[in-house]
Amino acid sequence: MPRIYIDGRPIDADAGQTVMQAAVAAGIEIPAFCWHPNLSVSGSCRVCAVQVEGRSWVEISCNMPVAEDLKVLTDTDLVRAYRKSILELTTLNHPVDCGICDKSGECTLQDYHYEHNGKPSNSRDVKVHATKFHHLSERITLDNERCILCSRCVRFTHEISKTKSLGIVNRGDHSLVRASEDGAFEHDAYSDNVVDICPVGALLSRAFLYKSRVWYLEPTPSVCPGCSRGCTVDLWHRKAEWKLRALDPAKNVAIERVTPRDNPAVNGPWTCNKARDLPAFFERPRAVQAMLAGKPVATLEAIEAARSLVACARNPVALVSNWGSNEELAAFAQALAARFTVRVKTDWAPQPGEVVEDAILIRADKNPNTAGACSRFPAMDDPAAKLPDGCDLVLAWGEGFDLTRVPRGARLVVLDAWRDPGHENADVFIPTSIQTERDGSYTNFQGVTSGFKACFAKPEAAVHAEELFAALGVRESVPA
Ligand code: SF4
Ligand code: SF4
Repeated sequence: MPRIYIDGRPIDADAGQTVMQAAVAAGIEIPAFCWHPNLSVSGSCRVCAVQVEGRSWVEISCNMPVAEDLKVLTDTDLVRAYRKSILELTTLNHPVDCGICDKSGECTLQDYHYEHNGKPSNSRDVKVHATKFHHLSERITLDNERCILCSRCVRFTHEISKTKSLGIVNRGDHSLVRASEDGAFEHDAYSDNVVDICPVGALLSRAFLYKSRVWYLEPTPSVCPGCSRGCTVDLWHRKAEWKLRALDPAKNVAIERVTPRDNPAVNGPWTCNKARDLPAFFERPRAVQAMLAGKPVATLEAIEAARSLVACARNPVALVSNWGSNEELAAFAQALAARFTVRVKTDWAPQPGEVVEDAILIRADKNPNTAGACSRFPAMDDPAAKLPDGCDLVLAWGEGFDLTRVPRGARLVVLDAWRDPGHENADVFIPTSIQTERDGSYTNFQGVTSGFKACFAKPEAAVHAEELFAALGVRESVPA
């Protein structure tokens, strides 16, 4: 374990680390554009230069191996002058259109300019112009004038998503990031990660383009329910103090964008594009009306009817959701499991056109909590089979249940959050809350449990399943 010194501070580095890695591990910040902890070293931006004690020149720290007794200085006159010159060069042809750039507020170039340079451009030459709004894919647009050619995006497609779908063409001032002509970037299931890792506003999500300034938004920690990997994510939505008054009030309870929440145990700093599309998934039409045999009733009345059916049934079967949180499943186990034959059903199967499984993150099980549900209850042996004839009540929780599987004469109670015409065929239908409206946790296929938080209020008529199960199991007041 070599001991190095950064600005006089002793650090026990790991053999094989670079000075940049040792500094990051010790919480010391060295500026970097092209270096990324999960990508190979390219050493092209030069802004991470440091000075080794006793030497009269600077060297890049991202490619400098640690060695016993190495003494590194990050803030000498030479280092400061060099960084300033790098910032001058990097911004030489930059359009400085921060006023309209989506990256404003979280742009590394903006931050470093003020920290290490802060001066107007010295150049009297006309800036070199390049393509604005280059169509890189249906999901991503590229502004070549803002691109600082750090190659992070290129290395991402070579090293992480493995599509090798981006490259840099031409030389010098004419260099441009471009997608390969075989269309591989369009089909790269992880392409949106390049928007996050681009240190400037060159790569932009078309779904988020000009939708909001980032300082109007705040993140809520959550878990992508798109498959059993359970990637941890941040759901970005409007801050309460920036609520809109004049425009559509739905904007105040909308997810504006989704970004990965770095989690080495599950997904690292990445997600697949399905997580980015969660806003549309969560904004599907909701079920907000309780019903008895298709007739609208108050939610309390529906809960009371469900409770009577549960109390009277002789041979009830419960199909629990593998989208239920661990907390909801525990509430079901405590309040109701003893009354039912319980089986875990599969709410979602792979959809046409989606990547079923790969060797990166995506799993074939398109449900977030199969492991959590199956640790408490057995899974259905044959998800397509009819339920046993002797069963006189079916309680179906969640999506993906085919009503034709209910045995003739059996009563049906359905709990679901999303609108579905089939709900009218249930004896009792009760609308429930969704993941963005309650706290909870899922356990992924590896046994790692990740929590999510509520960011919006539930619709008034919907109930939290956790409270509903408690209410169905005991004779006391019920939630509404
Ligand atoms: S588009 Fe962004 S990530 Fe890609 S090379 Fe340019 S600055 Fe780097
Ligand atoms: S790999 Fe699975 S959990 Fe992760 S972002 Fe994609 S769909 Fe969501």
